[in-house]
Amino acid sequence: MKKVVIIGSGPAGWTAALYTARAQLEPLVLTGTQPGGLLTTTSIVENFPGFPEGVDGYELMTRMQKQAERFGAKTSFGVVESVDFSQRPLKLTVDGEPMLAETVIIATGASHKHLGVPGEHELETKGTTYCATCDGALPVFRNQPLVVIGGGDSACEEAMYLTRFGSIVHLIHRRNSLRASKIMAERALSNPKIKPIWDSAVTEVLDVQQDKVTAVKLKNLRTGEESTLPCAGVFIAIGHVPNTTVFKGQITTDENGFIVPTKGTMTNVPGVFVAGDCADHIYRQAITAAGAGCAAAIDAERYLAALSE
Ligand code: NAP
Repeated sequence: MKKVVIIGSGPAGWTAALYTARAQLEPLVLTGTQPGGLLTTTSIVENFPGFPEGVDGYELMTRMQKQAERFGAKTSFGVVESVDFSQRPLKLTVDGEPMLAETVIIATGASHKHLGVPGEHELETKGTTYCATCDGALPVFRNQPLVVIGGGDSACEEAMYLTRFGSIVHLIHRRNSLRASKIMAERALSNPKIKPIWDSAVTEVLDVQQDKVTAVKLKNLRTGEESTLPCAGVFIAIGHVPNTTVFKGQITTDENGFIVPTKGTMTNVPGVFVAGDCADHIYRQAITAAGAGCAAAIDAERYLAALSE
């Protein structure tokens, strides 16, 4: 039986691992299918304190893992298929195998939100993507018009990154101003290769017949006018959905699936704690996730200490 199992390997997961390892609780981190989490798909992280020049997202996560492992955290590339938190010890099924734990820290993060328009799913990996840093440099996008959808920091970051490859980057947003932080919005809008298209929604990704992205259908949400914009790539950056499906029915979530802590990082199940983007629809920063991971580790440590008293 494990004292602490941490589900997820983003900033929340690795920080929880660091603290519980230093508390000699021998945590096991289950990385899931994307070790290091979404941050590994970012280019430069400029707002994680301690890195004045910025740090590559993948490198930051690798450093966090090394730091936690230095103090005894164990890593497994396991995927949690189901949990049974109705009994003690807590039970998880990981890659078909049962696992028992005294405490669990949920740090499963969030995944890219999908638009849900015709052609999006059919043309995924054929020009539709959710990650510019992963796919932007592909030959199919070089010197071609590209489209980024969204108005947040992610959309700005993706658009700026794509200016290295595309002939022009159309930033399509459903409102007439960006939600992104001021610095990101200003950088994006002052880039001559980024052309914003305001008040507009993509209603279809074309062309499923040709089995590749050739254009998007647009609708102006103010005038109702419809148009077609030729492009070779569609980069969707419209936010995230929490990765909490596996806990459905056992852990309290809000209507959007974000876990709702009862006190501090405690969930409705004693011994199960939560940290990071799977419980945070407000801040969603690497540093706030790391802070929550620290808090969850301290809460788990105190819980275990109280049990053994
Ligand atoms: P976000 O801030 O939630 O922005 C999502 C954007 O997508 C919004 O502009 C939203 O429009 C739009 N949107 C949502 N659903 C849509 C739909 N169905 N169709 C069309 N547009 C849709 O998400 P994010 O940009 O991924 O950022 C998430 C968090 O990570 C934020 O806290 C952000 O600060 C952080 N982040 C930081 C950095 C950085 O600092 N370098 C980089 C990336 C992300 P509305 O504006 O109309 O709601």
